[in-house]
Amino acid sequence: MTKQITLQEIKKALAKDEFIFHYQPKVSMITGELIGGEALIRWKKSDGHIVQPSEFIPLAESSGFISEITKTMFHKLVIDMVIFEDVAGGLSISMNASTKDFKDRGFVDIVKKTIVSRQLNSNKIEVELTESSLLEESDIVDSNISSLAEMGIALTMDDFGTGFSSLDILSKYSFSSLKIDQGVVSRMEHSDKDRAIVESSIRMGHQLGIDVVAEGIESEKVYRMLQNFGCTIGQGYWISHPLSLSDFLSLAQEMKRWPSTPAGLIYMAQIDHIQWRKLLINSVFDIKASNDSFQLESKPPKCERSCMLGKWYYGAGKVFSGVPQFDDLEEPHSKLHDLGDELIDAAAKGATREELVSKMRELSRLSSLIIRLLQELENEIL
Ligand code: C2E
Ligand code: MG
Ligand code: MG
Repeated sequence: MTKQITLQEIKKALAKDEFIFHYQPKVSMITGELIGGEALIRWKKSDGHIVQPSEFIPLAESSGFISEITKTMFHKLVIDMVIFEDVAGGLSISMNASTKDFKDRGFVDIVKKTIVSRQLNSNKIEVELTESSLLEESDIVDSNISSLAEMGIALTMDDFGTGFSSLDILSKYSFSSLKIDQGVVSRMEHSDKDRAIVESSIRMGHQLGIDVVAEGIESEKVYRMLQNFGCTIGQGYWISHPLSLSDFLSLAQEMKRWPSTPAGLIYMAQIDHIQWRKLLINSVFDIKASNDSFQLESKPPKCERSCMLGKWYYGAGKVFSGVPQFDDLEEPHSKLHDLGDELIDAAAKGATREELVSKMRELSRLSSLIIRLLQELENEIL
């Protein structure tokens, strides 16, 4: 039987500087490039033996000693990041934080001071919060989380899908990404239910305008499935196990590429467009029924650059510039929005049902053209 680690031993290890980070690569599933890594703590004993976090983090957390570990490890992260800067400047690194880290100002103050004194680019640092660390609400936790966000540090909700309040918490704080729990991801290969949960989590993240990271990818099959669902960032043993700092840097220098396809994003663009059309049609009939366009609870974005399809077209979609099916989208999409404005105006001015239906036919025609072009674009790039 293995001997239980005591708090005394953990404290000694911290004093002896025996904690290090290993870095697990994160890749863009759209471009196939390495985009960063997650810093995962390891206890490297003097004899070289490595102790995994599951053997000491729970005790460190329950005793409150984790705050000391986090503060020390943040300093280590910063030193490692100075080395990254020289070798692989563009990478962003996330570190895990626990409940206790947000219960006093200690951690946030250290982060602030270090960033200022080292002139660090805070956009390259992310903090992963587990759901349970946010379940205990308090004003101080709220204010510490907001302070990190104000410093430009991105917040990730870790282990999404394992807690009870994830949706509530997701709406309360400004997360820039959510990380789907590895348990759900690894089961999706053999479970329709888990597949549906992963697909809808990706869709939800997309609608919230935040990145979705899938962790625990253990096979190419799961990697490909996630790509087709529109997941943008992947992490897992199939991509790479966590690596020592030097191995991680060698990997970054290798410029290795993983499979890439933007097909999932085109699929998302189709759904976005269908949702916009549905919202527009509902709005037109609601206005007609109430004769009041101000009463609408949710309105379809007017400008062709502010709907989700437009944001994609004028943003991430630009990688397809020059592909005819992509370039041909601009005109019908712009016309569609003009027509949408006309329909809303006409409904507000009391147009007859027949007048509205005739404009809606034109709307359907433009919409079908857009869906067809997106479909052809998908076929083209596949
Ligand atoms: P986490 O933050 O969810 O980290 C992901 C864990 O999943 C890591 O385990 C990683 O090695 C493992 N993993 C990655 N890809 C795969 C895969 O494809 N399959 C499987 N089965 N596992 C995969 P690790 O390093 O043992 O860390 C476990 C947990 O310990 C972390 O879960 C995190 O909650 C905690 N932890 C790690 N480092 C720190 C730290 O510096 N501070 C705090 N507070 N917690 C930490
Ligand atoms: Mg994590
Ligand atoms: Mg996790």
